[in-house]
Amino acid sequence: MKVVKFVSSVDPSKCNGDKLCERVCPTGAISVVDKEARVDGTKCVACIKCWDRCPSGAIEMVARPEPVVVRTDPETVDQDKVFELCLKAKVLPGQLVCMCTGTLAKEVAAAILQGAKSFEDLSLKTGSRSGCGIYCIGSIQRMFEAAGLKVTSPEDHRMYDMTLNMFDVPADLQEKYPEYYLKEDTEILG
Ligand code: SF4
Ligand code: SF4
Repeated sequence: MKVVKFVSSVDPSKCNGDKLCERVCPTGAISVVDKEARVDGTKCVACIKCWDRCPSGAIEMVARPEPVVVRTDPETVDQDKVFELCLKAKVLPGQLVCMCTGTLAKEVAAAILQGAKSFEDLSLKTGSRSGCGIYCIGSIQRMFEAAGLKVTSPEDHRMYDMTLNMFDVPADLQEKYPEYYLKEDTEILG
């Protein structure tokens, strides 16, 4: 969940059309047409990545007349299906997936069950991935895969790849390093 109080705005006279803003936007809200960046305000979650990245100072964050709440209510989705998806992805429903926005795994699961099929969809439905964009990626990818969805970053856009967790450690390595108790932990938590 994220409360969005600002929206990105471009000064066309300063824009050089280099598309750097387009590449870092987590929701696909900004695109460059005819060498000029344009913002779809309905998709902007005010992450300020475009503002931060723009080399020309062409972007300004402007206060919205009213804040917009970006959220998927997990309670509106079949709870058994939310639990099932989390279980399959090996994340706990109440686990924090996006620390920057406080988005829990059950909200991500609900958004996927309600039709999110891409990273951009998910950011638009939950606000997740609009902070650092690093720590949430592993769990989000895991949850998409558990739902049978293959997600990829748009070509030439920035995205951190999936980070491994203990469930990804092969059995021979678990045996080789018994001092980390990975076998025991995966058995108990799995
Ligand atoms: S990063 Fe700045 S200069 Fe480059 S396309 Fe976007 S708004 Fe224009
Ligand atoms: S979501 Fe972030 S990167 Fe995209 S337009 Fe809004 S502030 Fe810029």
